[in-house]
Amino acid sequence: MNIHEHQAKKLLEEYGSPVSKGIVVFESRDIKDKIKDLKIGNYVVKAQIHAGGRGKAGGVKLVKNIKDLEKEVKDMFGKTLVTHQTGPEGKEVKRIYIEEASDIHKEYYLSCLVDRESSKIAFISSTEGGMDIEKVSKETPNKIITNKVEVEENISSSNIDKIIKPFNFSLEQKKDAYKIIKALYKILIEKDASLIEINPLIITKNNKLVCLDAKMNFDDNAMFRHPEILDLRDLNEEDPTEIEASKHDLAYIKLNGSIGCMVNGAGLAMATMDIIKLYGEEPANFLDVGGGASKEKVTSAFKLILSDKNVKGILINIFGGIMRCDVLAQGVVDAAKETKLKVPLVVRLAGTNFKEGKKILDDSDLKILSANDLNDAAKKIVEAIK
Ligand code: ADP
Ligand code: MG
Repeated sequence: MNIHEHQAKKLLEEYGSPVSKGIVVFESRDIKDKIKDLKIGNYVVKAQIHAGGRGKAGGVKLVKNIKDLEKEVKDMFGKTLVTHQTGPEGKEVKRIYIEEASDIHKEYYLSCLVDRESSKIAFISSTEGGMDIEKVSKETPNKIITNKVEVEENISSSNIDKIIKPFNFSLEQKKDAYKIIKALYKILIEKDASLIEINPLIITKNNKLVCLDAKMNFDDNAMFRHPEILDLRDLNEEDPTEIEASKHDLAYIKLNGSIGCMVNGAGLAMATMDIIKLYGEEPANFLDVGGGASKEKVTSAFKLILSDKNVKGILINIFGGIMRCDVLAQGVVDAAKETKLKVPLVVRLAGTNFKEGKKILDDSDLKILSANDLNDAAKKIVEAIK
């Protein structure tokens, strides 16, 4: 789960990290009331969407007085921002953060994330922070330094020193840096964050360190123990079909292709997506219905796939282990009737009760193409949608 920049900064502040002061507005007329909390001066207007690259897409604007501020906020509300992280459809701006502008002397990059391979926390630092970090990682990867730290109660000073070494901070700046890195480490552990990115971390002309941008991602599987984080969820930022899927406990990710897939097991789901690509088409989604899915779960999964207007055909690929093929088949038949299925459907069943499952499909008066194996299934669905 992602949260907005303004929420991430509030969390950073609670953990003792310096951030710039700001207010969040949901409509233009909120400004008058809230702006009193900020110092009079230059402001930065920042679109709050769950994506980076806002600066380059017109989602971060510097203004010099209240009049310009009001105009900029009005213009930005309702705008669709297309950044390198939003996909071509972009994201509509529904909330805006207004910050006191900082006088930037230099921009750095700092992030930390769970490193699954080593079971440690990886801290990434670079002196080349700001809006071109992707370019830095491509062209001068040696300017990006990774330090892996054990998961413990607290981070040691020697580890902090390694992380900030490339920055060459003065003694005064180091004090701020310690606060920031301790905050990141604590948030990652205590709140089950999986990624925290501060880009840029800046030094102001007054020699102060400030977290000027903050992105945080949390482990969905741990959110049951952090209701205060779950409260920060913004459903506007999520795909409606993915929200619906999470209600039915289905692992569903929407993609841009035209073949809907219903599979059990993440590995088999990925293999299915791969083979669809091999035959020259693109999957419309990743969907793992899980091990012992009920008929109801299968029905909702089927409806979810069909709610995507890009779906031109469906491939069901099930290996019955705990999952019984007859249960699956009944779910598919029910859902296909209920939704008056019009697109081609290819089904490949193997494993527990597959004969019973096949009989249910054959006995239904639905037009279902049955396949012997994964290869056959992919070939058939790709041909069928042509
Ligand atoms: P994004 O990463 O989505 O492009 P940022 O919050 O990093 O958005 O903003 C982009 C750039 O805008 C920053 O690198 C910084 O140069 C400038 N900027 C952002 N916030 C402020 C601020 N409060 N004061 C001054 N400049 C800012
Ligand atoms: Mg940024």
